[in-house]
Amino acid sequence: METWRLLDTGARSAAENMALDEILLELKAGEKIPHTLRFLQFSHPTVLVGHHQSVEEEVRLDYCQTQGIEINRRLTGGGALYWGTKELGWEIYISKKDPRIPSRIEDLYRRMGEAASLGLRHLGIRAYFRPRNDIEIQGRKISGTGGTELSSAILFQGTLLVDFDVDEMLRALRIPTEKLQDKEIESVKERVTCLKWELGRTPPMRTIKSALAKGFQEAFGVRFQEKPLTGEEEGELKNKLSYFSSQDYIFKIRNALPRRKTLSSILKAPGGLIRISVALDGKTQIINQILITGDFFAYPKRAIFDLESLLKNAKASPSNIEGIIRSFFSDKKPRIPGVTETHFVRAIEEAIQKMYLLPKGFDEEETHHLFPVLKPFKEVKKPEVLLLPYCAKELECGYRNLQGCEECGRCSVGDAAKMARSFGMDSITIQNYEELESTLSSLKHSGVRGFIGSCCEPFYGKHRPDFERIGLSGILIDVERSTCYDLGQEKEAFKGRFENQTHLNLPLLKKVLEYSHD
Ligand code: SF4
Ligand code: SF4
Repeated sequence: METWRLLDTGARSAAENMALDEILLELKAGEKIPHTLRFLQFSHPTVLVGHHQSVEEEVRLDYCQTQGIEINRRLTGGGALYWGTKELGWEIYISKKDPRIPSRIEDLYRRMGEAASLGLRHLGIRAYFRPRNDIEIQGRKISGTGGTELSSAILFQGTLLVDFDVDEMLRALRIPTEKLQDKEIESVKERVTCLKWELGRTPPMRTIKSALAKGFQEAFGVRFQEKPLTGEEEGELKNKLSYFSSQDYIFKIRNALPRRKTLSSILKAPGGLIRISVALDGKTQIINQILITGDFFAYPKRAIFDLESLLKNAKASPSNIEGIIRSFFSDKKPRIPGVTETHFVRAIEEAIQKMYLLPKGFDEEETHHLFPVLKPFKEVKKPEVLLLPYCAKELECGYRNLQGCEECGRCSVGDAAKMARSFGMDSITIQNYEELESTLSSLKHSGVRGFIGSCCEPFYGKHRPDFERIGLSGILIDVERSTCYDLGQEKEAFKGRFENQTHLNLPLLKKVLEYSHD
């Protein structure tokens, strides 16, 4: 039976762990090391952003600095993660040519996720891989996975939550926890789980490692032989450590552009959320800077940096942007599971079209809270209807779960309805998702030209394809305060049972109404 190396690098700093990822991947690409299963832990609580994410957008820097939480950047894509010192990481370094490695990325994720799930089942828990890249126990995530590659080598890695501190995760990552009540934090906790909660105890680390190793052993038909880092690997670690500890690596390669000087857009593709930030020269309409971030996975990982370089100093016209992106995809053939060139074209064009709002009295900050539906903003002319979400109604109001509003003045919904009337528009309050769909469809069929609405950014990100399918064009304005997504209550909210109150951005609504009736 074939033998792979089992490498247990123990508890180390974030920088050491990230440096080792690169070293092992490079050595594997040079065929200098055998196929390897590595176990890793963190010596301090750590936040790791995905390779394509901006630290400022994802992490509460002040909190992490005061609490001694280390921050670093993974080589792999995906979202930001909080790691306590009791969590365990596993990684496989393998050659792409190995016959057990599927060529389709989606199949690779399944192969690895199923191997790790098999290992977890040896601990007596019913863990199963859930596409695209999670391992779950009865709908609660215990492990996230992801990979990257370098020439002929693959690094595939996963987290395993062992004794997880959800409260600390909420404080360390950019989730608006100041506004969360205890009960709301509970609902966030319901989305994740860890070995301790599942088993009622924390198994010894060596038991967990040997169960996971057994899973990979069975899934790949190999056995493991434990070996430490080689002299070459140790030497490389000394060389690379300062770079992986540096601000240049952790922050600067994805430094957020200042919001007050940029235009932005978000687009949820099946493979992840794309965030665009672009700084334009207002006179020449040349792109000065562009940042493409998000929790997608790109192979090779430098594809996104290359695309940004091509777009920098380019004319910000839709045809030019589209031409650059399409020729980049056809020449370089990057693989970004669940994200196509069309997603990038649309996301970038949507950020750029916001430049036409600036001479109309909007500032850059305000444009971050506006989302187009189906058509560019300037084409939504004389909308007839204002759609308002029930979550902005006062919690005690008798209309909270009913259509309508008496405009009693106790919440922003009544003020918004009055504002709509002054522009000759009807306002409709929406009580749940089904009602939103049926209202949009009947408005469309009755010949309504367009709508203005309010919803939160995550709702827009997720349901944008539904708005587009229904086919009524409009402009959506972000709501303020904690959303049901922040609180993990989106399932309840879908049915109209979100128990928090958001707030409508009335000054921005007024500007949008004036702009669209100009
Ligand atoms: S303004 Fe309307 S929705 Fe708000 S509390 Fe009054 S009646 Fe209810
Ligand atoms: S998704 Fe939730 S927070 Fe967002 S608009 Fe709907 S109910 Fe409100």
